[in-house]
Amino acid sequence: MHVAAVIAAGTSGEAEQQARASLRRGADLAEFRIDALRHPTAGDLKRLASALGPRSIATLRSSAQGGFCGLDRGARHALLLEACRLPFRYVDVELTTDAERLGEYAKLAKSRAKDLIVSHHFDAPASPEEVGEILDACLAQGRVAKVAVPVATVEEAAALVDLARQRASARFVLIGMGPAGMLTRALAADAGQEIQYAVGNRETAPGQLALDAALRVRSKDAFVLGLLGHPLGHSLSPAIQEAALGALRLHGVYLPFDMAEPSLEPFLSAADGLHVRGLNVTIPYKETVAGLMDELDGDAEALEVVNTVVLHEGWAKGHNTDTFGFRTSLRSLGLRLGERHALVVGAGGAAKAAVHVLLREGAEVTVSNRTPSRAEDLADSFDESIEILTPDEVSRRGPWDLLVNATPVGTLGMDADLPVPETVLGRTAFVYDLVYNPPETPLLAAARRLGVRGTNGLEMLLQQAAKSFELWTGKSAPYDAMKRAVKEAAA
Ligand code: NAP
Repeated sequence: MHVAAVIAAGTSGEAEQQARASLRRGADLAEFRIDALRHPTAGDLKRLASALGPRSIATLRSSAQGGFCGLDRGARHALLLEACRLPFRYVDVELTTDAERLGEYAKLAKSRAKDLIVSHHFDAPASPEEVGEILDACLAQGRVAKVAVPVATVEEAAALVDLARQRASARFVLIGMGPAGMLTRALAADAGQEIQYAVGNRETAPGQLALDAALRVRSKDAFVLGLLGHPLGHSLSPAIQEAALGALRLHGVYLPFDMAEPSLEPFLSAADGLHVRGLNVTIPYKETVAGLMDELDGDAEALEVVNTVVLHEGWAKGHNTDTFGFRTSLRSLGLRLGERHALVVGAGGAAKAAVHVLLREGAEVTVSNRTPSRAEDLADSFDESIEILTPDEVSRRGPWDLLVNATPVGTLGMDADLPVPETVLGRTAFVYDLVYNPPETPLLAAARRLGVRGTNGLEMLLQQAAKSFELWTGKSAPYDAMKRAVKEAAA
């Protein structure tokens, strides 16, 4: 499989420069999106072909098929004829737009010993049967078929992977467009696809892999990691895990898996065949997924909350690395918690992980939650005694040696900004906000104004991510690279 960096630049000079940069980074080919040039001319084609022709694809995507510029039929035809004559490695023409001229292009391309890609871009989801028919129609006209179709669910992407595997003897590209379709790109080498189109100078199609990721998964042993949740808001996990995979040059990629609850079980069953080796689990599935595991590790079993899944030969083992992350970061802060008073605000999966760790460190734990019954359920799930306070009662109690915010309150974009009234902070020695975006949360800003020490959830996030990575790969996590990535992504 070739990795092609897609270059969409306004002038042929910029395109050449950016293509050279991508080739230096390891791309096999550059796809020149001729339609992105401001005024594409035969002169542009000549310049690009003489600079990098044998290492490039010339594509003139029509506006009907999602291209950047609209050319009249005559101008399009003239440019495509020129592209077929010039020494490009491949020329991309379209099954529908160019239907009447396909024979002419194919003949010319053949006489110049170049491969004609006949492509088709669906503008709406299509069934595997429809996609298969179009793929065959493209194959009948060109050396290589390229079909792209929007996909809305991971199931649809998995069906395309199956379809691609059935065509493994042909020369083709089959892409599921959008975040849900990224699986088709991750498994492109496994399915024997001809070309992986990756981001060159800017993303030109939704779900396109970054060039580094595309280069890592070019081998048939590529594996997939990912984040399971719904909806998947902005998460730092992809940036952290991609940085780790990149630092160790592992043949893996980390993808978003946003799915509805009924899809979880079939997805976990199909995961092995899709080379999915590991998952992080986020809101709202941490508890549901615990019930779907073949095996749970100690903390996951105690809490019935899973944030990491290791998949191996059809066996799914659930772990809770949030507990590891919280425990490790507490210790690195040097906080002594034995017999100290800790208030945990929130009663979801993160609160449960925090309470579990605090109890084991010997703290006296109080929990308060917006919905008190949920705090009671949390307390009932532990053998130790846990005090429950309503949000109103919290204001009248304390002092606290440690306050843990285990709610999303304070996260960028949320309305409410403090999980407890400011007066509570005045009676708190240390504030641990599990929220990390923004790095100085409103709670931490208020604590700083009052001279109260505190930390955000970044260190916990990193520690839990490092632990997950080690569970999936068996390798020591490249902590510094992960930390750099998280700082860049959170900035
Ligand atoms: P969860 O299971 O959905 O629980 C959320 C908790 O927050 C619930 O107790 C909920 O109360 C409460 N809550 C939500 N919105 C609220 C609001 N507007 N006002 C008051 N309370 C509110 O989520 P989770 O997995 O426990 O995660 C909680 C937070 O911790 C998230 O921000 C997450 O990003 C963060 N976290 C950070 C790390 C890290 O590594 N730093 C790890 C895990 C989680 P109700 O019960 O009343 O709905």
